[in-house]
Amino acid sequence: MDSGPSFPHLLAPLRIGPVEVRNRIVSSGHDTVMASDGLITDQLVAYHEARARGGAGLIVVQVAGVHGDPRDGGSVLQAFDDRCIPGYARLAAAVHAHRGAVFGQLFHGGRETGALDDGSQAAAVAPSSVPNERFLVMPRAMTRQLIAEVVQGYAAAASRLAAAGLDGVEVVASHGYLPAQFLNPHVNQRTDEYGGSLEARSRFLREVLVAVRAAVGPDGAVGVRVSVDEMAYEGLSQADSLESTRALAEDGLVDYVSVVAGSSATYVGSSHIVASMNHPAAYTAPLAALVKTLVSVPVIVAGRINQPHEAEAIIAGGQADACAMTRALICDPELPRKTQLGLVEEIRACIGCNQACIGHYLNGYPISCIQHPETGRELTYGELRPAASRRQVLVVGGGPGGLKVAAIAAARGHRVDLYDAGRRPGGQVLLAERLPGRTEFGGLVTNLLGEAERAGVVLHSNVLVSAELVRRLAPDVVVVATGAVPYRPELDLVDDPVVLDAWQVIAGEPVPSGPVVVADWRGDWIGLGVARRLASEGHRVTLAVNAPHAGFRLQQYLRDEMLADVLRLGVTVVPMTRPYGADADTVYLRHTLTGEPVILEGVAALVLAQGHRPVHELLDELTDYPGDVCAVGDCLSPRTAEEAVLEGLQVGSSI
Ligand code: SF4
Repeated sequence: MDSGPSFPHLLAPLRIGPVEVRNRIVSSGHDTVMASDGLITDQLVAYHEARARGGAGLIVVQVAGVHGDPRDGGSVLQAFDDRCIPGYARLAAAVHAHRGAVFGQLFHGGRETGALDDGSQAAAVAPSSVPNERFLVMPRAMTRQLIAEVVQGYAAAASRLAAAGLDGVEVVASHGYLPAQFLNPHVNQRTDEYGGSLEARSRFLREVLVAVRAAVGPDGAVGVRVSVDEMAYEGLSQADSLESTRALAEDGLVDYVSVVAGSSATYVGSSHIVASMNHPAAYTAPLAALVKTLVSVPVIVAGRINQPHEAEAIIAGGQADACAMTRALICDPELPRKTQLGLVEEIRACIGCNQACIGHYLNGYPISCIQHPETGRELTYGELRPAASRRQVLVVGGGPGGLKVAAIAAARGHRVDLYDAGRRPGGQVLLAERLPGRTEFGGLVTNLLGEAERAGVVLHSNVLVSAELVRRLAPDVVVVATGAVPYRPELDLVDDPVVLDAWQVIAGEPVPSGPVVVADWRGDWIGLGVARRLASEGHRVTLAVNAPHAGFRLQQYLRDEMLADVLRLGVTVVPMTRPYGADADTVYLRHTLTGEPVILEGVAALVLAQGHRPVHELLDELTDYPGDVCAVGDCLSPRTAEEAVLEGLQVGSSI
């Protein structure tokens, strides 16, 4: 394929040490929870193969442990013995078959250890016995002997990856992991040759890179990943990070530098590891530009780079040489190919919701994407199978689930008519995108609608579909995707209090001036978002949540940022409470553990974010329909857009 004229910098080849990469689009190292027993699986091979097939220039495989002290859980790859080689070899062959280059990350988390497969906590080590904010494990200080063993572990792991046919390795010195712990004087309090001056604190990383360079030999690339700004209290300073990177590059120890921001050691810093839609696109590019002024090797940058034009501008502007578009590729593995073919409008842009990618990872499940649930399920849904025969499909409801089922069924060759009761499709997304900081969520509908239209789905708006209409249209298959409406729990209401549901507030219905209580059952973005909206409009807001903390159900990086936003606006969070009544100026809550009443007086309005009730009446009325009847999404049981789109894929693939 020829490079398209619009993206000459992004689509140009790049030489990284001895490796020629076909373009500047990189899938950077990211955990997938697709490893098993520390080894590469067919699922992981298929996942990366899909990105290589889609045209990614370089794929950097997720972290692999280099030493067994401490041990990690089985979903973390391990490269500290030869068992890893066959899996890496299969993965490398799969990526090379599509002309992609593939590197592997070498990792030691130091004091950042998680749970083992049996649920117990792994022991932790660090330069010194200094704990961090998130992992709550006190590490033991590493002996010189252990340091030497770990350095050798990096080298041995690098040779295994080279033996497996990978094109290069990347030492992960970012995000507060072990090399960064040595660099950081707040963590490294050693008085031997590994502590003290920056030169001494850099010694560990330097020894690692020297050993890795020797192990890989002249045919493999060696890179280092650094957080130029850990964005954290007691983080590694930007000055130290830049200077150590400069010195390592100047001494020829690395063929490239991969720039990121954030640190997993703190709540604030960790939000930058996978930055949500709260952050502007490409916001880390200025950090890469700082590195570019100091080193002569290529610089890769990651951080919410979702679209080819953003990446092109970064490279053309000299801020970096290549762009890690990792979530963009999770969301649309075909992004590079579409870019080359000039089909940029067809790219399914990542919206930074963090729900099914990093959200799955942090919950211990294989990563996927709410917009593209085929991700992580490539072995099942990697290829669209044409329908055996063309059928007439009627989809009722144009929310995310209805749009997805329509798009997939039509792409497989069916005739699909989608009816929606509203003026335009989108369902609850049309409300979600109106919450503060959630505008980008609307991209979900833009993308799905585009897919449905390109697949040939015929859209009918402003039609409320009845069972009678279905019978008159007589399709072969009916897919009910009628969604949900707000749920109002039974409440003891006296003296006509003002009680609104969250949808009404989001839609702009007036809320009386004065203090407001938002009663949040689901612990997601609705309660937090409505609280933020009302507080920013001048209300004194109490957010009463039916959980230990607000945003209980949200991916933690997103949750922490939304929580910080509402706390800055003065919102009071009352945990473990649910409403049981209200009168003209009082809201009555009950503590969910003690059962004691929690009475809030002087309240102007109660806003209910109490979840949703399924709209399943049409589904029930079609039980005797002679054709096939299926259902997807909230009409089955209200959940989130992720489940609706996944069920749309499943049903659309099975018709
Ligand atoms: Fe992007 Fe959300 Fe998909 Fe993750 S789940 S890749 S953040 S759209």
